[in-house]
Amino acid sequence: MEYKKNDVVTVIIEDIGNDGEGIGKAEGYTLFVKDAVIGDTVEARITKCKKNYGYARVEKVVTPSPFRVTPKCSFHRQCGGCQIQALQYERQLVYKQDKVRENLLRIGGFSPEEIDAVMEPIVGMEEPWHYRNKAQFPIGYDRDGNLIAGFYASRTHDIIANTDCMLGPTENREILEAVLSYMRENCVSAYREATGEGLVRHVLIRTGFFTGEIMVCLVINGKRLPAEEMLVERLTGLRFAGADGKERDLEKEQEKDAVSSGEKRIVSISVSVNREKTNVIMGKEIRTLWGKDRIEDSLGVPGSSERITFSISPLSFYQVNPRQTEKLYGLALQYAELTGKETVCDLYCGIGTISLFMAKRAGRVYGVEIVPQAIEDARENARRNQIANAEFYVGKAEEVLPELYEREALHPDVIVVDPPRKGCDEKCLDTMIAMRPERIVYVSCDPATLARDLKILCEGGYEIRKVRAVDQFGHTGNVETIVALSRIK
Ligand code: SAH
Repeated sequence: MEYKKNDVVTVIIEDIGNDGEGIGKAEGYTLFVKDAVIGDTVEARITKCKKNYGYARVEKVVTPSPFRVTPKCSFHRQCGGCQIQALQYERQLVYKQDKVRENLLRIGGFSPEEIDAVMEPIVGMEEPWHYRNKAQFPIGYDRDGNLIAGFYASRTHDIIANTDCMLGPTENREILEAVLSYMRENCVSAYREATGEGLVRHVLIRTGFFTGEIMVCLVINGKRLPAEEMLVERLTGLRFAGADGKERDLEKEQEKDAVSSGEKRIVSISVSVNREKTNVIMGKEIRTLWGKDRIEDSLGVPGSSERITFSISPLSFYQVNPRQTEKLYGLALQYAELTGKETVCDLYCGIGTISLFMAKRAGRVYGVEIVPQAIEDARENARRNQIANAEFYVGKAEEVLPELYEREALHPDVIVVDPPRKGCDEKCLDTMIAMRPERIVYVSCDPATLARDLKILCEGGYEIRKVRAVDQFGHTGNVETIVALSRIK
């Protein structure tokens, strides 16, 4: 049977795709069905046909899957953020565990026996809502020309007005409403991507879940905001829900997990100038309008009462899910097996979070990171936590590591890597192998590039000791993985 665009077909959904979409067959023809849940029987409208497979969208759920739940957010089908919100959380975890395993088999070329012997159960979240500490909201106009803040619709740059995302802190809504009302009152325009005109592009909000400190940064297509003091007045006038609101429950939850939240309050307001016609959100230059340049937060790890305090600037990377991050870092420390004497390299170190936890248990730590502001933060963080055995280098891991090896003859006992989605550069992997560390700890936010890189490391004389997925991004298709490798003697 030949299908074409706009045909409506009945499909039994038997699998979940890479982006969380349902996969099923219509008379042998494979369809990737957006918004379908594994176990559903759906009527789906075909949106795109290729020779051997096609794409479709759910028109009607005929028989719902036992794993189907009612999504909390009414925008979840339009929004690009939560691809699997209609899938029961426990089943999401199974999906992510499988996704990591499948990638290791298919791309890594490992055997099922090898992987099953080392893979531990995924670490899930106790409360998979309101877990994100950072969001960047695009500002724009709806069809009637009203000023809105929200999210990009899936695969587009159309903005859906929604200031109440279920993944972020509930205070974000009030902050965004305050920004919008300041803009309306002062006739401040929003940026229009099509023409490159208009001023306000995005609002970045980042919250320290432990300290309660909030940073608000407006990304603008110009040098200044009109009536800046009005914005400051609006934002600093906000008072967030007190002791008896919904927030309190969340706080209790957090205490249970050793992350408690201080009183939420805005401590930093800034603008970032971005006049480029680009998809990159933040500009390079940041100017503080009010309060501090950075916010503070702190992290601890399970089984230890020690906490490390971090200072975080708007341009620095900081893990978005602090509660799960603590569990992830706990595993990183376990996998590193430090006794106090080791030399450790922490590549892609951001503001030095992993580096500083390692430094407390190692001889010496070298952190490498490409963003200069993040390295400034890392050095400041070492100082404020009185950690003297960590040094930080600005640059690409694939350039700095070979220099440390060739010029300084550095031979680390342990190398930790935590690269962005594209994984490690080959030059970086080759240098790691040449340095012959006893152990490598690989933290990854993309199982496909992880599998590719593990293959190279294993061909270079390493074996996988442990693999564990950690759910940092509930309701989205993303999964974090941590792997322990050791050198074969
Ligand atoms: N380990 C840190 C940060 C991980 S995110 C943490 O847990 O918080 C990945 C980091 O890699 C980001 O800070 C990013 O700026 C940095 N980065 C990206 N490409 C890089 C490269 N080629 N060399 C070094 N750092 C890089």
